[in-house]
Amino acid sequence: MNRRLLIFVAACVPGSSSTPFIHLLCMPTWTIISPCEKDYDHPMRMYIFRVMQTVYRMLDSSNEPSSVDEGKHIATLGYAMSQEKPGSPDLSSVVIHFRLSTQSVTQFVVTTSPLQFVDMARNICIPVPCDLAVSVIADIDEFVFARSTSFRELNNPGPVEECDLARRIWKQVQAKRYHRRLLQQEVIGDIIDIACLRTRSPRCSICDSNLIHCNSCQVASCESDNCPGSSEPPLTWCSRHEKEVLCFPCLEEWGCTGEIEKCPACKSWCCTRNMSSCNGHPIDIQLIPGLPGSKSVLPNLIVAYAKSERVHSPKRGCCMKCELPGWRNCNSTLCWSKTICPECASGGVACLCQEVWACDLCAEHSPGVVIRCPRCNRPFCSSCSYIDECQECHRAHLCYDCAEEESDVDDGVMMERPKFVASCGSCQAKVCDRCVSDSAFSCSGCSKRLCTSCRMSLCDDCRQWSGSDDEESETSGDTGALDV
Ligand SMILES: [Zn+2]
Ligand SMILES: [Zn+2]
Ligand SMILES: [Zn+2]
Ligand SMILES: [Zn+2]
Ligand SMILES: [Zn+2]
Ligand SMILES: [Zn+2]
Ligand SMILES: [Zn+2]
Ligand SMILES: [Zn+2]
Repeated sequence: MNRRLLIFVAACVPGSSSTPFIHLLCMPTWTIISPCEKDYDHPMRMYIFRVMQTVYRMLDSSNEPSSVDEGKHIATLGYAMSQEKPGSPDLSSVVIHFRLSTQSVTQFVVTTSPLQFVDMARNICIPVPCDLAVSVIADIDEFVFARSTSFRELNNPGPVEECDLARRIWKQVQAKRYHRRLLQQEVIGDIIDIACLRTRSPRCSICDSNLIHCNSCQVASCESDNCPGSSEPPLTWCSRHEKEVLCFPCLEEWGCTGEIEKCPACKSWCCTRNMSSCNGHPIDIQLIPGLPGSKSVLPNLIVAYAKSERVHSPKRGCCMKCELPGWRNCNSTLCWSKTICPECASGGVACLCQEVWACDLCAEHSPGVVIRCPRCNRPFCSSCSYIDECQECHRAHLCYDCAEEESDVDDGVMMERPKFVASCGSCQAKVCDRCVSDSAFSCSGCSKRLCTSCRMSLCDDCRQWSGSDDEESETSGDTGALDV
């Protein structure tokens, strides 16, 4: 236990009361938690949050914050100096101010000398609970002490620079603690000179490997698993991103909202943002049916998915390297989930060549993903090469089997089928007789016919941006007639 910590424990006697501590000589103050300033990852953020939680629980429980990102409170951290002997002034107390973001004056103050919570409005002081004092507040105090003694020359850094600086300082403190821990564990008793422990070396004093730090609390451990200096349990990091490191206590505290999670398949740790998840099958989508081929069906579908309730809240899958049995990816870019869990995938449809799988909703409503034969209703995709559909209105012809059977039987039904009279000048997708006359379907530069998806990119021939759908082309366009 260090010198400053001992002072805390001594001061932490219940029942001690003194007059409210209001320091006139408050030195720099940093906003650590606030609703507007998105936090710049100040290393004291979680520590200050824990103090805030305790203060509100004890003095104003209806406003106790539930999470650090709640945005209802403002917390600032600062310190006061005192000049008792000649020379540079000493840090006399850490000063933390709390208020609700709707308030303009400080509600509660926490000081370390004397160690107390002050309720400003009611003008009362209460002692700080011992467990908080010896852990969290001692950490904050150690940070502020290190911050106050280093980089004095730095004038008013901005919030981003201040956080960078604070993180560097807190890392050095943690490196120092690491070396101190080795000494306490007597792992290095005889090997290492005490003098070298005072350094804030970023390397292990046993094996000279790099020290690694938890991203949240900055606690240090030796990078090498074999070194007796590596922490137990070891720090965990993402298998793809070496910089995403968390210690076990932080992992537990972050719980399922954490940044690193264990892949259920390969058991390696992985950034949560890189793990698959199923958003839950929409329960009941309200689709206003558009005319066949009307483009308004697409935003409608996205809106319908977004508005619908889901059968479950997002469910975690696995890392990018693994595949979990029964999990699927829907081929529609409009789908309600990037990956789909077995339960939600149960109604999905695979095409004849097995190249394409779509969830039940996208198979039915997302145009062009699954093409069903109007006669036998079998599902196909464009690479099945077994059915033709118009690229514009998505009306499908019969599949090749049905077309053969039907050709010499019923001409009346054939009349309702699309006739393919043109094709896209770029990808050769077919266009039916109804859609061919729409001049907006051609390149505005060279008037070459282009299908919906090819219109999204530059025209191959004239290198012009093909323009939006509602743009009127002056020429009727070369229809690239096709034998049907
Ligand atoms: Zn080591
Ligand atoms: Zn940690
Ligand atoms: Zn995995
Ligand atoms: Zn889908
Ligand atoms: Zn699901
Ligand atoms: Zn068919
Ligand atoms: Zn063109
Ligand atoms: Zn095309």
